Amino acid sequence: MNILRLITVTLLMSIISQKSIANNHIIPDEIKDEALKALSYYPELQDANIEFRFKDSIKQSTMQARPKFSSFFKHRRDREYVILISKVFKISGKRYLTKDLPRDVMIGWLGHELGHIMDYQNRSRYNLIAFGVKYLFVDNHIMRAERAADGFAIRSGMEKYILKTKQFILNHADIDEKYVARIKKYYLSPEEIMEMVRIREEKMTSSAL
Ligand SMILES: [Zn+2]
Repeated sequence: MNILRLITVTLLMSIISQKSIANNHIIPDEIKDEALKALSYYPELQDANIEFRFKDSIKQSTMQARPKFSSFFKHRRDREYVILISKVFKISGKRYLTKDLPRDVMIGWLGHELGHIMDYQNRSRYNLIAFGVKYLFVDNHIMRAERAADGFAIRSGMEKYILKTKQFILNHADIDEKYVARIKKYYLSPEEIMEMVRIREEKMTSSAL
């Protein structure tokens, strides 16, 4: 191969590979299928910089979505987000691998985290700082933030998955009682989800009329 051809091929290949990561999402292979499925419900996040990353453990939760500190002073559209996923999940003292969660449960869980990112995208950086501080200290604020994330997921059409995730947690009698109590307190109940779906559908029919 002469040198000119080699350069052309290399250039072409780099253009092609850049295209395949053009949507700015970094996803570990173990959850690629589930993450892409969850992302497919959020066309608004197609160009957002989002990294899904496994971590040894996360305080008080299994997953957590947040802006990356390194991008904090960038323009809002260049902001980068990370969804941290705890490698292990505890059920009555026993440890399970999060990547082995049932597919639909994983999709619902990731869908909820993407709901947080939808919420963050609407916020300025100062608003995000206030949001973070309040999340740490104001109980009522945690409830509002978690319900907002569920709300985004449901308005995006993910109720089937959100309900599966919720049922998985609430029906697993062996999951840490404190954790179940936390879920019940802060997140939408299955009844509230059905109500939101009803409202969404009502809006759709009335706008179609
Ligand atoms: Zn959440």
